Amino acid sequence: MARTVIIREHGGPEVLEIEDRPVGEPGAGEIRIRHEVCGLNFIDCYQRSGLYPMQLPAALGMEAAGVVEAVGEGVTHLRPGDRAAYAAVPPGAYSAARVMSAAQVCPLPDGIAFDTAAAMMLKGLTVEYLFHRTTPIKRGDTVLFHAAAGGVGLIACQWARSEGITLIGTAGTDEKCALAREHGAAHVINYRTEDFTKRVREITEGRGVDVVMDSIGADTFEASLDCLRPLGMMISFGNASGAVPPFSLSMLASRGSLKVTRPTLFTHTSDAEACQAMARHLFDKVVSGDVTIRIDQRFPLDQVADAHRALESRATTGSTVLLP
Ligand code: NDP
Repeated sequence: MARTVIIREHGGPEVLEIEDRPVGEPGAGEIRIRHEVCGLNFIDCYQRSGLYPMQLPAALGMEAAGVVEAVGEGVTHLRPGDRAAYAAVPPGAYSAARVMSAAQVCPLPDGIAFDTAAAMMLKGLTVEYLFHRTTPIKRGDTVLFHAAAGGVGLIACQWARSEGITLIGTAGTDEKCALAREHGAAHVINYRTEDFTKRVREITEGRGVDVVMDSIGADTFEASLDCLRPLGMMISFGNASGAVPPFSLSMLASRGSLKVTRPTLFTHTSDAEACQAMARHLFDKVVSGDVTIRIDQRFPLDQVADAHRALESRATTGSTVLLP
C-alpha cells in the first residue's frame, strides 16, 4: 500500500484527498518505484481545477525521484536499487510509491540529490525543449520569458545565460525580479507595475525580441505578440492566468508575419530515446553547475492542498517539493 493523493471531483485545493492505495507488481515494460521526493507543477493545478479535464477519480502529480524497487520484463535501462527520476504521464507521482511505465523514467546520476531531481525533471525538460527543440535560438538572440522567478523560470534564466542568450525576464514583484536577475536574466521587468511591452521595446531599441516564451496565457498573450520582431516566434506554453482566448490569425500578419506554437513537454518525451537524451542534457547542465535548482518551498505530502494554494496565489519562487 502507498499513500496517494487523489481527486474525486474537479475544484479548488479542498478536493485533494489522501488515501492508501495498493501498489502491485510491475508488468512488462513497467517498474515499481518508491518515491523519496515528489515535484509540484502548475499543470497539477490545471488538472485539479478541471482546466485540463481528467477521468475521475484520478491520481495527481507528474514528477518524482526515488529508488527502483522492481522491474518488469523487457526493462533494460533500470535495475532494482537504481536511483531514478521522471516527468511522465499518466499522473500519479503524488504518492509514496507506484507502478508505472519505465520508458520516461531516467537513471539519476549520483551527483544529483533526490530533492533536486524531483524539483527539476518536468521543469528542466521543459526548458530543454523550449531552448533546443521548438525554434532555432542562437547565441546573441533575445528571449522574453514571463514568470522568470518561478520553477521553470529560474531554470530558464540560468539556461539562457549558459547558452549566451539574452533573457528579458518578467515577474510580479521587485523581489522576484531581483531573484531572476541573480539567476541570469539580463534584464528584468516587474509586469505588475510596468508596461512590459514598452520596456521590451526600450531594451531592444525598438527592434523587439526574437522569441517570447509565455506561460501566463490570457493576461499576457496579446501584449507578448507586441514584443516580437517581424518573423519572431511566440511560444505559448502555459495558462497560469487562464487559457488564451481564440484570436484572429490576421493579428500575426499585421505584426510582421509572426509565428505561434503551443507545445507540451509530453509530445517531446513520448519518444523514449528522445526523453532519455533530453534528461542527459539536463543532468549535464546541473552537474556542470551551469544550472542550479532552487527549492524554495517544501511541504509534507499531506499538506498538498497548502502547496497548491501557495503556487496558485503567486506566493512561491523557484521549485516546490512534496515529501511523501
Ligand atoms: P511557476 O513557479 O512559474 O508559478 C507560476 C507563476 O506564474 C506564478 O508564480 C506567477 O509569477 C505567474 N503568474 C502570473 N499570473 C498568474 C496568475 N493569474 N495566477 C497564478 N500565477 C500567475 O510554475 P511552474 O514553474 O510550475 O510552471 C510555469 C508555467 O509553465 C505554468 O504556466 C505551466 O503550466 C507551464 N508549463 C508548461 C509546460 C509545457 O510543456 N507546455 C511544461 C511545464 C510548465 P509572478 O508573480 O512573477 O507573475
